[in-house]
Amino acid sequence: MAPSKVLTGARVVLPTGIADGGRVIVDGTRIADRAPADAETLDVTGHWLVPGFVDIHNHGGGGASFSGSAEDALTAVHAHRRHGTTTVVASTVTDDMGVLAKQAGLLSELAEQGEIAGIHFEGPFISPCRKGAHSEALLRHPDPAEVRKLIDAARGHAKMVTLATELPGGIDSVRLLAEHGVIAAIGHTDATYEQTREAIDAGATVATHLFNAMPTLGHRTPGPIAALLEDERITVELINDGVHLHRAALELAFHHAGAARVAFITDAMDAAGSGDGRYMLGPLEVEVADGVARLVEGGSIAGSTLTLDRAFRRAVTVDRLPVEDVVRALSANPARLLGMDDRVGSLEPGKDADLVLLDEDFALKGVMRRGEWVVDPQLG
Ligand SMILES: [Zn+2]
Repeated sequence: MAPSKVLTGARVVLPTGIADGGRVIVDGTRIADRAPADAETLDVTGHWLVPGFVDIHNHGGGGASFSGSAEDALTAVHAHRRHGTTTVVASTVTDDMGVLAKQAGLLSELAEQGEIAGIHFEGPFISPCRKGAHSEALLRHPDPAEVRKLIDAARGHAKMVTLATELPGGIDSVRLLAEHGVIAAIGHTDATYEQTREAIDAGATVATHLFNAMPTLGHRTPGPIAALLEDERITVELINDGVHLHRAALELAFHHAGAARVAFITDAMDAAGSGDGRYMLGPLEVEVADGVARLVEGGSIAGSTLTLDRAFRRAVTVDRLPVEDVVRALSANPARLLGMDDRVGSLEPGKDADLVLLDEDFALKGVMRRGEWVVDPQLG
């Protein structure tokens, strides 16, 4: 087992606020409240220590995707881990039901090994009007029996299903998901304000990338955006990459929902942590230029190339959000949604020693997962 460590001198972001000159004690894989006698001390004065990031919507990275082989999925896990995401949910994209069930089996093994936190099915139960980068020919109505097949294929590791709840079977599918402890996420939807409220009453708790792939906010037709923002039961996903959302839209949502109801996500595809070029998103071809991913056919935005360390830095330096609020949106809130807040999402004794070291300009300078450095601290 790795020797115990005491990190001293940092500005530590705790659930109770920021502790200047604070310390974090790591004993084995966990955070401890008391340092063993043989602990190594590392002075990280001038740096921030924040909890490891939790990404609930992520399709890939490092040139590989969660729709590929187990090796591909691990490549994506490690690429995002190097950028501070110590807990990741693997997202699939619309595909043939048989293909998705098989992929769920493969990903559930990685969940059993502790490499991913579970599976998010984005599609095929989404609206053809708001399909984004999903294959139209493979879309289908959210028949609860079909939804059930995917949950079963995930062997207890299905964490979230994104669906257009206004489609036939949508509300019954939301109820089914809620009964099975799987998050019903409203997204890729053409629902009205009233239809969205009905889905929330049925048990939906997440808005899949709010604003993207849904009707815009109109003053007579407020649509899903108003219904999702105003309801205390909903956590809204936001993609903070400067491409998917205008800064003002992001800030409006953040301030309206409040810091307790936002989860920053990447919605990343293979090019995250990799580079420009040609990639696949499920069955569709994507061209990435200047870090923006678009479908070759039609030009829809096709996921992001974001990593959560960049989302953090942007939130603090461009959006001017308070660091404590950003930490909630990147760690505590998604951990709570996943029901994992007893283990991850904050720097508290007893939890996994998952942490990110940032310099005073919020550049990533180290990542620890379960007590081991994934990115060694760079304190130059
Ligand atoms: Zn997605």
